[in-house]
Amino acid sequence: MSMCPICNQLSVTQYRCPSCLGKMEDSGRVMDYYDDYSAYLEIDGMKLEDGYPEDEKEKQCPHVFYCSQCTTENVLLIHEWRNECN
Ligand SMILES: [Zn+2]
Ligand SMILES: [Zn+2]
Repeated sequence: MSMCPICNQLSVTQYRCPSCLGKMEDSGRVMDYYDDYSAYLEIDGMKLEDGYPEDEKEKQCPHVFYCSQCTTENVLLIHEWRNECN
């Protein structure tokens, strides 16, 4: 079993904006944030549908981060933590 440290509020990692290096705030999971999941794929340009093995996809939780400094939304793939006790 694996879980996303951001969804579970276990991570204290500060994510920096790739544009201005400002601190970004988590706006939630992409799935919750966008009504249409495909919209996110177009926005970000990342090709989740190919290049990633199926199990790799499941270990990542895409989140929307908002940078208040340059008012930009960025999508980051958060690597989920493995539950060692599983
Ligand atoms: Zn998550
Ligand atoms: Zn920024």
